[in-house]
Amino acid sequence: MASALPVSLKDIRAAAQWIGSHVVETPIVPSALLGAIAGVPVWLKLEHHQTTGSFKLRGATNAVLALSPAEKARGVVAASTGNHGRALAHAAKAQGMVATICMSRLVPENKVSEIRRLGAEVRIIGRSQDEAQQEVDRLVRADGLVVIPPFDHPDVVAGQGTLGLEIIDALPEAATVLVPLSGGGLAAGVAAAVKGINPKTKVIGLTMERGAAMKASLDTGWPVQVEEVSSLADSLGGGIGLDNRVTFAMCRDLLDDVVLLTEAEIAAGMRHAYASEGEIIEGAGAVGIAALLAGKIRSGGPIVAILSGRNVDMEQHRRVMDGETAICAEDGP
Ligand SMILES: *Cc1c(COP(=O)(O)O)cnc(C)c1O
Repeated sequence: MASALPVSLKDIRAAAQWIGSHVVETPIVPSALLGAIAGVPVWLKLEHHQTTGSFKLRGATNAVLALSPAEKARGVVAASTGNHGRALAHAAKAQGMVATICMSRLVPENKVSEIRRLGAEVRIIGRSQDEAQQEVDRLVRADGLVVIPPFDHPDVVAGQGTLGLEIIDALPEAATVLVPLSGGGLAAGVAAAVKGINPKTKVIGLTMERGAAMKASLDTGWPVQVEEVSSLADSLGGGIGLDNRVTFAMCRDLLDDVVLLTEAEIAAGMRHAYASEGEIIEGAGAVGIAALLAGKIRSGGPIVAILSGRNVDMEQHRRVMDGETAICAEDGP
């Protein structure tokens, strides 16, 4: 079955060669405190130290480098205002290209200026993410721009998989790898890399309890839509695409389990990261620690938790550190 998957270990090794000089090989460090809780050694892969603050730079860089010269000349476009938008802006600039990032008028000014600072052309259009996406489609039709999607693309998945290679190279004896899960690009790539080298290693996807589209899709057996609700793990929001081509099948075939976290558990994960490990991470990056603290992970051997990103609003981070519980009050607990 594995040979039929759209991204192989070979693709991921090739991606590692391509992107090696453009991304940081992030540290992997032991956590004595979490190890004591889990009863087995726990390692943290500090991917939030990646350039642009998340692993998204790996996939975006690999996808940009894989473009043909004609495609490179046309330019790249995306509608993400989050970590993928940042990563694509940076990856394009590093290749002497300009990325166009479309966003709605409702996107806060600090996000707009951050993406501009990274060298992208920002197009502000409409009042919703849907309208921003329509502008992307229009630019593809009218100007021939090339869309680089945030997860559902073989080159993006192969790029994210390089994170899995780094983990299994550093820690071949890893028994369980904990991966934050949204559209599944990271989980698909990491699982393909880790299991390609050591098929016995378990890979577990972690996401928030509410609005988890991949979990609902895996339970249903095909891609489904779920209602979006706000979460501390905002980078884990959004659907997987009803016409998903790559990540759904890979997550279905490669993930050993999906574990869900409450908002309070995610907040506790962020607090532990800061107070006990000295790391500032966003909610999406905290789900691995959150699951360990909540006693939701059983493993017979060493565990690696991926801290996937650090791009959190510092005011929100302060409120979480202060122990405020109703961060996303509009949805209730
Ligand atoms: C995008 C993102 C994720 C989820 O990655 P997918 O490939 O969409 O599953 C997790 N953490 C952070 C910080 C992200 O930016």
